[in-house]
Amino acid sequence: MNVILFGPPGAGKGTQAQRIVDAHGLIQLSTGDMLRAAIAAGSELGLQAKSLMDEGKLVSDDVIIGMIANRMNDDDCKNGVILDGFPRTVAQAKALDVMFAAGNIQLDQVIEIQVDEAALFARIENRAAETGGARSDDTAEVLEQRLKVYHENTAPVLPYYRDKGQLNVVDGMQSIDEVAAQIESLLSASA
Ligand code: AMP
Repeated sequence: MNVILFGPPGAGKGTQAQRIVDAHGLIQLSTGDMLRAAIAAGSELGLQAKSLMDEGKLVSDDVIIGMIANRMNDDDCKNGVILDGFPRTVAQAKALDVMFAAGNIQLDQVIEIQVDEAALFARIENRAAETGGARSDDTAEVLEQRLKVYHENTAPVLPYYRDKGQLNVVDGMQSIDEVAAQIESLLSASA
């Protein structure tokens, strides 16, 4: 099973992806986590990505698509993946289609976690407090920019999947358990 978790920053994609990993043994592919690992490793890619991430801007499609294509080749991804934070542009969504078609891989579901925008600021503030400010982009100022990017570049990916009949929506304003249960019922319908 291959699933895309979609939603703005702070929607709970990472938390819900972890639940799906635990329940279904899928591999979580978070492009944000991959980039943060590259920064921590001090690689060239990390160096290039860091300033963009700190400003809440997107890393280039080519870099991101290459990163996902590489990782998808690994054997552990053959049983299925949860894409968390990818695709974030229509170009990325189209590249993913090509990648899946070439590998004869099926995309089972795209699940959008919908959250009221006002709630996102409190959530990001909480995450910053809980993680001791581990993410330099978890500030109100950078979140404003990340939301702008979400509306301009990422939200247009939704109609792309809706038109293909692949989009499902869950109410992300519920508790973590309730959101997980709603996602689970969608996944079991396509399992
Ligand atoms: P995330 O952890 O998903 O919130 O991503 C953190 C940051 O990493 C984003 O604000 C972007 O700068 C960058 N990033 C993560 N995923 C992507 C992507 N699919 N396309 C472009 N930039 C990305």
